[in-house]
Amino acid sequence: MTALSIVVPCFNEQECIAALYQRLTKAAKSAAGGDYEIVLVNDGSRDRTWPMMKDLAAADPRLVAINLSRNHGHQLALTAGLDLCRGDTILIIDADLQDPPELLPAMIDTMQREGADVVYGLRTARAGETRFKRATAHAFYRMLARATDVDIPVDAGDFRLISRRALDALLAMPEQARFIRGMVAWIGFRQVPLPYNRDERFAGTTKYPLRKMIRFALDALTGFSSAPLKIASHAGLWLSIGSVLLVIYILAGWLSGRAIPGWTSLMLVVVAIGAVQMFVLAMMGEYIGRLYSQSKQRPLYIVQEIEGGGIGQPPSHE
Ligand code: UDP
Ligand code: MG
Repeated sequence: MTALSIVVPCFNEQECIAALYQRLTKAAKSAAGGDYEIVLVNDGSRDRTWPMMKDLAAADPRLVAINLSRNHGHQLALTAGLDLCRGDTILIIDADLQDPPELLPAMIDTMQREGADVVYGLRTARAGETRFKRATAHAFYRMLARATDVDIPVDAGDFRLISRRALDALLAMPEQARFIRGMVAWIGFRQVPLPYNRDERFAGTTKYPLRKMIRFALDALTGFSSAPLKIASHAGLWLSIGSVLLVIYILAGWLSGRAIPGWTSLMLVVVAIGAVQMFVLAMMGEYIGRLYSQSKQRPLYIVQEIEGGGIGQPPSHE
């Protein structure tokens, strides 16, 4: 086992690789001496990212380069790196150096001092990002916080330090649509924030065009909330109440004899069918919601520790 793993997903980051490698190595040395590994995952880059990574890996035994078969997306590239890394403590960081590797010693320090399993970077300022990106990110994190029942920290990215047991819990979640920062929040344990200023991208342009941002937001929302499904239930409830009032109104018209022949029966049928349809939809929504949460096959719970009885000891490997 290695003391520290640094996992970095890279997609078309040729301008960043050299500086990334240098700054990560420096930070890792100061934090873990020689006992670390840097895991770079090439997510189907179309530039020189992979050859550069391969050269670095040939020259430095502490560097592991992983080449994915095609572009699988940020969250899956990160998952590949997390699956294969061997560290006791794991740092997740972007390739573009927007999150300073120099924060590593402070993160390790916080983890030890607070007895935390997760130390996540909290973005207090975001330099060099477009207004659009900042505004959408701001709105996104707040919307997500309202819609989900997991406490996903607001304004935190994937930049975080996690313990081995937290990572193992994370990797036990087999779901396909992975929103890692939400999943890390879901596993629990003690998670503490570390505020920092987010820098500008070191070089190159963002690898998150609007299309990927929308996909990402949808994965987050559908993975951690059934709020959109519940809309049908709410609409069904209010429409049912409304239709009762409507029925009273229709019958009153009929009794007073003001209604033209045929109107009463027609209206009653329309209202009744509408209400029944909404009700049935809402019922189906509830079942689909449960089917969906079952199909994610998440572990049911995660044990933090067990005292006594001799069952809390880690298995020995003699
Ligand atoms: N990335 C990736 N695959 C993708 C898109 C992005 O591995 O399909 C990586 C990218 O190389 C970077 C990280 O994910 O290390 C975050 O991307 P980026 O910095 O472009 O996102 P932004 O900071 O603009 O949200
Ligand atoms: Mg970035």
